[in-house]
Amino acid sequence: MTIVDDLKQTLGDIVLSGTDIGERHRSDASLTGLDLPKAVIRPTSSDEIAAALRLCNARGQAVVVQGGMTGLAGGANADGDAIAVSLERFTGIEEVDAQAGTMTVRAGTPLEVAQRAAEDAGFLLPIDLGARGSCQIGGNLATNAGGIRVLRYGVTRDNVLGLEVVLADGTIVSSLNKMIKNNTGYDLRQYFIGSEGTLGVITRAVLRLRPLPAGRLTALCALDSYDNVVAFLARCQRGLPGLSAFEAMWESYFRFNAEAEKQRLFDEVPPFVVVVEQDLLGNESERDAFEAFLGGALEDEIISDALIAQSEKESRSFWSVREGHAMDSQLPSLINLDVSLPIGVIGRFAGECGQALSARFPAAHVSFFGHVADSNLHIAFSDPDSDTETAHIVDGIVYDIVRRYRGSISAEHGIGTLKRDFLDHSRSAAELELMRRIKRALDPNGILNPGKVL
Ligand SMILES: Cc1cc2nc3c(=O)[nH]c(=O)nc-3n(C[C@H](O)[C@H](O)[C@H](O)COP(=O)(O)OP(=O)(O)OC[C@H]3O[C@@H](n4cnc5c(N)ncnc54)[C@H](O)[C@@H]3O)c2cc1C
Repeated sequence: MTIVDDLKQTLGDIVLSGTDIGERHRSDASLTGLDLPKAVIRPTSSDEIAAALRLCNARGQAVVVQGGMTGLAGGANADGDAIAVSLERFTGIEEVDAQAGTMTVRAGTPLEVAQRAAEDAGFLLPIDLGARGSCQIGGNLATNAGGIRVLRYGVTRDNVLGLEVVLADGTIVSSLNKMIKNNTGYDLRQYFIGSEGTLGVITRAVLRLRPLPAGRLTALCALDSYDNVVAFLARCQRGLPGLSAFEAMWESYFRFNAEAEKQRLFDEVPPFVVVVEQDLLGNESERDAFEAFLGGALEDEIISDALIAQSEKESRSFWSVREGHAMDSQLPSLINLDVSLPIGVIGRFAGECGQALSARFPAAHVSFFGHVADSNLHIAFSDPDSDTETAHIVDGIVYDIVRRYRGSISAEHGIGTLKRDFLDHSRSAAELELMRRIKRALDPNGILNPGKVL
């Protein structure tokens, strides 16, 4: 009996094969997936996932976990020999514990659904990213997603208190801890957070909730130099108690996206534009204090102009320039690189990187933007003459410079397959060997997401 027949016999119609498998299982948002998996399992319980993994493990069958398929590193792509476990039907909020300030969520729940449930209960779930409508909590945890609120609330791993996972051999490890302090041996959840589906299937999570802000103030600020961006960040961190986002755009990124969105925000496009956002506690004086703060930065010539959003609509329009969705449709073969560097050297790095890319690809669009306050820089690259080699050449150029600056080749998107060959640019031989040992210990037959990360 084939493994697919075996799975169908044990699990019934949650196992799809042949023409029943939908296109969405081919590729994540990197659009690098070529094949459909040979079967897709769509479980509705941890027990079904455990049963599927037991069978696959016994036969050495490769399994790829698929969440919302918004990943940008190729991590959820399966080849035609692999079986996908898709969490799309294992959804729902199991509990909001208002006293503990926690939420227990099934891994397939879309992030936005969990955010809304938290808000309905009067809380903020601070994990937030542009793909919120499609990405799933399990995928957010498996990639340790970053996003736009990291400055105030940390990355995904900082907002997770407990986890349930199914190991490669089908063992269910339920560690749905709700406490902030719990020093009882190894912190097992951290092995799985950021492991990109290579160490276990995340099935449930206890997430930490925060008080819901009374509102937000958003400003778009113009600056003349990267040194001023760094000085302004330090000033915002000292002077804005509710600072929740600080996002920088280099001139060419801002110009492209403002034009694409048909927004004329400044008379002349400045060298740098920063989106600053502050969470409100609900005091009447907060707006005045925000305006006075920006006025002080203008007087001291740290910023050269500032626009304060007068409505939620205007705030969204500032963010739409920063999120840059227009690039996806208007730039051919867009590559979005995601690196991390010490904040002070990001300006120099961007200059060097831009020169090196433009020297090799003179017709290419190259622009920079990023969360910056958490050391994260993104690079948008698009070459009209791009071919199958282009992405690898671009990676090589950028990651060699990242290595020289002692940065990280992945700030938040993960390694998947797309960055796997460059992992040694940011990790030592000893670190890589330790990762391999952990992988062998948890998945001795190597069935979980083979070929990803390591
Ligand atoms: C418009 C857009 C904006 C984005 N913005 C950001 C951003 O600001 N910050 C950021 O960090 N990322 C961002 N991303 C990338 C992506 O959204 C995140 O990586 C997200 O966390 C992936 O979640 P997913 O459910 O789509 O996972 P998938 O793409 O389905 O999978 C990602 C990886 O996790 C594994 N996986 C998925 N579910 C599980 C599970 N339950 N158990 C174990 N392993 C699992 C997969 O095998 C794969 O390796 C963005 C993507 C898009 C398209």
